Amino acid sequence: MKKLEMIYEGKAKKVYSTEDEDKVIVEYKDDATAFDGQKQGQIAEKGEFNAEISTIFFELLDKKGIPTHLVKQLNETDVLVKKLEIIPVEVVMRNIAAGSLAKRLGLEEGTKLDQPVLEFYYKDDDLGDPLINEYHIQAEELAKKEELEEIKELAFEINEVLVDFLAERNINLVDFKLEFGTGVADGKIYLGDEISPDTCRFWDSDTQKKLDKDRFRRDLGEVEGAYQEILKRLKS
Ligand code: UDP
Repeated sequence: MKKLEMIYEGKAKKVYSTEDEDKVIVEYKDDATAFDGQKQGQIAEKGEFNAEISTIFFELLDKKGIPTHLVKQLNETDVLVKKLEIIPVEVVMRNIAAGSLAKRLGLEEGTKLDQPVLEFYYKDDDLGDPLINEYHIQAEELAKKEELEEIKELAFEINEVLVDFLAERNINLVDFKLEFGTGVADGKIYLGDEISPDTCRFWDSDTQKKLDKDRFRRDLGEVEGAYQEILKRLKS
C-alpha cells in the first residue's frame, strides 16, 4: 500500500490517504512538543521507536479482543490503519498520581490511586484540551451515549491488559491517553491514535526512573535512551 496525499499533519504524526478509501497510512515523526506546543524539539529516532512500540501494544490489545485501527506496520515509521472519524475526546487512564492530576488534587507524584481513574478531556488545542465529564460530552454531542459506554468499558479493559504486560517487564504504567473513533467503513468504535512514551507515563518499577516523554518535558536528559529502553523491554 502506497502513500497518496497527506491529509493531516499533527505534532508527532502525518496521515496519508491510500488507494483504499477506508485505510490511511500514519507516519511517525521525530518532532516532539509539550505544553500546548510552547516547547518544541526533536527526539532522535522517535518516529521509529514509537511506530514499533505502538504496534506492539496494538497487536497485544488486538489479541485480547480490543477493536483497534491497526492493520499492519509497513516500514520503520509507517503504519497502515483503518480510517476513523476521531471522537474529539481524549480518554486518560491513571493508576498512580502524576502530572496534571497530582497538581489538581494536591497529591504527591507517585501516590498510588486506590482504583484506576478515568478522565475525559475535550480535544481542542485553542482551549488547551480542558477537562470535561460525561455531561459535557452529551450536551456537546461529542459522542453518542452508547459509544461513550463502550469507550469507558474498553478503556478499563485496555488498562488491565497494559498494566499486566508492563509489570512483567518491570514497568509501572502510571497513566496514559487514548483516542477512539468510529470506522468510516462500518461505523463501529475502534481504538485509534497511538500508545507510546509520548502518550504514557512509564516508570521503572524498581528505581521509579521515568522512561517517557516527561524526560523531554522536564529536561531530564537521556530522552532517546528512555524510548529505546521501553522498546527493548517490550521485545523481551
Ligand atoms: N497526554 C497525552 N496528550 C495530551 C495530554 C496528556 O498523551 O494532550 C498523556 C500524558 O503523556 C500522560 C497522561 O496523558 O501520560 C496524563 O497527562 P496529564 O493530564 O497529567 O497532563 P500533563 O502533565 O502531561 O500535562
